[in-house]
Parts: sequence; C-alpha cells; structure tokens
Amino acid sequence: MKLILATSNKGKVREIQAMCKDFEVVPYSQLMEEFEIVEDADTFKENALIKARAVFAALDDKDVVVMADDSGISVDVLDGAPGIYSARYAGVGSGDKENLYKLIEAIKAKGINSSPAHYTAAIAIVTKDAEYTVHGWMYGTVFVEARGEGGFGYDPMFIPEGYMQTLGELDDEVKKKLSHRAKALSLAKVILHALRLDAKSN
Ligand code: IMP
Repeated sequence: MKLILATSNKGKVREIQAMCKDFEVVPYSQLMEEFEIVEDADTFKENALIKARAVFAALDDKDVVVMADDSGISVDVLDGAPGIYSARYAGVGSGDKENLYKLIEAIKAKGINSSPAHYTAAIAIVTKDAEYTVHGWMYGTVFVEARGEGGFGYDPMFIPEGYMQTLGELDDEVKKKLSHRAKALSLAKVILHALRLDAKSN
C-alpha cells in the first residue's frame, strides 16, 4: 500500500522520503492535480488533519493511508511567531527566502542578534477507519544571519542545541537525526507499521 503525502513542499517530501525508506512514499501531486487546501485552524495538529483529510476525501481509492505534516518555527523574542504562519510569514504565496529574511528583520527590529526558538512538526495520518496525530520538536537558537544552503525554509538561520553551525551548514544526516520532523516521524512509523503498511507492496 502506498503512503500518500498531503504536501507538495519539496523540502518536506525530500526529508520524509529519506526517513521513510520502508514505505512507498508518494506526494499526492503525483496522483492528481494539486489543489488549494485552506489551513485555517489555529494549531499545527488541526492544520495537519485538515490537509490529510482533504487529500483523503479527494482520492477515489479509499484503501490508502494519507499522511500530512504541518510544521513551523516559533521564536521566543517574537512571542512564538511565526508559528503556524511560518509558510506565509512574508505574505500569502511567499517563498522560503522571503520568509527567512522577514524573520531576520523582525528579530533585528527588537535590537538583538539572536533568540531561542524551536521548530514543531505535527503529523496526521488518515485512513478510512481512523485518524492519528503525533508531534515532534527541535530546540535551538535563531541568528540574524543566513548561513549555508542545506535544508530548507528557516534552516540557514537556525542552530540546533548542542551545535555550532546552522542547519543550512550541517550535513543532512544531522538534521535527519534530531529534527522535529524526524521525531514526529519516528512515532508515525510505529502507527504505520501497526496499520500493516508493508514495504513497497500494493
Ligand atoms: P506548512 O507547509 O504549512 O506546514 O508550513 C511549513 C513551513 O514551516 C515551511 O514553509 C517553512 O517555512 C517552515 N518549516 C517547517 N519545517 C521546517 C524545517 O524543517 N526547516 C525549515 N523550515 C521549516
């Protein structure tokens, strides 16, 4: 059975595929025309459920497992912003670079160079029988400087706890071990195995 991802964010798809080698992970955009999903809830968990439910409802075949990731970064000095608005911090339709530089400017405007921050990932799994949600977090510091080309989104300004370099500079393997997404996915995988979503079978 395929694991259908309710996202077309290339960074997320790449990371989830790399961390879910036991499963045949397929972004929903490979099965149908991408469509707009209004994420109007006020938690990562509810927004992840909205995405997974929307894609599940759009599929003809109901014998599938759909998984969605809703995630973002929360900066202490900004009272947790951008949080659930991370993808559209610089405005609806904004790209990763615009969001990154808007966050750098927002922190600079406070007259400081860094702040504690954390990433959150909520993962929702929807099948015809049930819905499940799990979470993961990664703590660290954001700096008012973008360094490195690795990862995606806000990674060039985020240094994880216990490291000296940004996620843009660190090897992908480091992020794979300690990220919010990796932690949520390790729990999600327990559910996927319990659902008998067996490796590469149909
Ligand atoms: P979503 O697609 O609505 O869940 O929004 C996710 C947004 O949060 C992304 O577009 C990024 O801006 C940010 N984000 C989430 N996870 C990461 C990550 O692992 N690295 C960098 N930025 C992330």
